Amino acid sequence: MQDPLELLDIPSLLSDEERAIQATVAAYLTDHVRPHIASWFEEGILPRELARELARELGKLGVLGMHLEGYGCAGTSALAYGLACLELEAVDSGIRSFVSVQGSLSMYSIWKYGSEEQKQEWLPRLAAGEAIGCFGLTEPDFGSNPSGMRTRAVRDGADWVLNGTKMWITNGGLADVATVWARTEEGIRGFLVPRGTPGFSTQDVKQKLSMRASVTSELVLQDVRLPESARLPLATSLRAPLTCLSEARFGIVFGAVGAARDSLQAALEYSGTRIQFDKPIAAFQLTQRKLASMTVQVSNSMLLALHLARLKEAGTLKPEQISVGKYNNVESAIAIARESRTILGANGISLEYSPLRHANNLESVLTYEGTSDIHLLSIGHALTGIASFR
Ligand SMILES: Cc1cc2nc3c(=O)[nH]c(=O)nc-3n(C[C@H](O)[C@H](O)[C@H](O)COP(=O)(O)OP(=O)(O)OC[C@H]3O[C@@H](n4cnc5c(N)ncnc54)[C@H](O)[C@@H]3O)c2cc1C
Repeated sequence: MQDPLELLDIPSLLSDEERAIQATVAAYLTDHVRPHIASWFEEGILPRELARELARELGKLGVLGMHLEGYGCAGTSALAYGLACLELEAVDSGIRSFVSVQGSLSMYSIWKYGSEEQKQEWLPRLAAGEAIGCFGLTEPDFGSNPSGMRTRAVRDGADWVLNGTKMWITNGGLADVATVWARTEEGIRGFLVPRGTPGFSTQDVKQKLSMRASVTSELVLQDVRLPESARLPLATSLRAPLTCLSEARFGIVFGAVGAARDSLQAALEYSGTRIQFDKPIAAFQLTQRKLASMTVQVSNSMLLALHLARLKEAGTLKPEQISVGKYNNVESAIAIARESRTILGANGISLEYSPLRHANNLESVLTYEGTSDIHLLSIGHALTGIASFR
């Protein structure tokens, strides 16, 4: 069986159009990205020119901001976007992160909270991959608790002056425009900072053991002067960046299924051809137990993702429901990636096979967009009515 999700005939739950979008994204990635991903991961960075070319290709494919309406975006269903994330992360979490940050964080922040001029200026270019965006919320001292952020924006005449540092920002070193969240006297506000603005610089994070086929950067703002027109006018509190994060987490719920499915497929294929004790290792009951248990887990994750997509399409999806999906599907995916690696034996530690690369990437996915702990607290809050974050 090629796709373990076929055991429960899960593809039959999708419409023809949803299946066609998923197949188109998968086919593009198989031909253009999968053959290179191990070497990009090994090099530890997406080279700038390559990233720009990839962005344009992904733009042509229609996956950048694909669930948004207008401004050159595809306007697909939430489920179609989820399925694209699944196929992207089946190749590598770094590639899915690129698309998530571009579409759900950078573009969504402009689409939802921007002025008409900001939308016209940035969204069509971001959708086409002609420009790259990033989203700066986390700081060196404030990750799980962004409400403590130190980055400040102070009014100076008609302008704003920003000072501060953002850390661990996906696409930061590539971005033509950064959505930067800062504290003002009136509360937390968002600003669009174009690359090249005096006082704005970026530095890529090196020596990563995870998410190596992705650019992760520090953003430094030193007396960055911006006009009022750079402020996102409809973002009036921390709720704005948190709403953007909910969008991106929805993509992760599906993406994690992709990483898990790909790891399991690698283990399944390998177990059929690797001979020990004169038999394929797939013939041993202990191997079958692993394969069967992982198939049950990945099927559960996919059914959960589909349920959340239908809630999103109905307009009723709540943050704590996304927390269930992000927590469950990422925890499950990392367990599947590690278990799949055991089936590959020593070969499993080589970049020739995907499971350990997925497991390493999923360490980041477990941490970003709210750690597993924070999502458990959000579920606990919904259950008990008691917020135990602090
Ligand atoms: C590869 C990568 C890409 C990223 N991309 C972006 C990006 O594009 N934009 C952006 O803004 N950020 C980004 N991040 C940052 C990410 O969102 C943060 O790392 C994350 O929010 C966690 O913050 P932290 O690392 O500071 O950990 P901390 O908040 O310091 O947490 C450390 C540990 O303490 C636990 N903890 C914290 N508070 C509590 C609590 N109340 N109760 C129980 N346990 C708690 C956490 O669960 C965790 O285990 C990225 C991170 C990575 C690794």
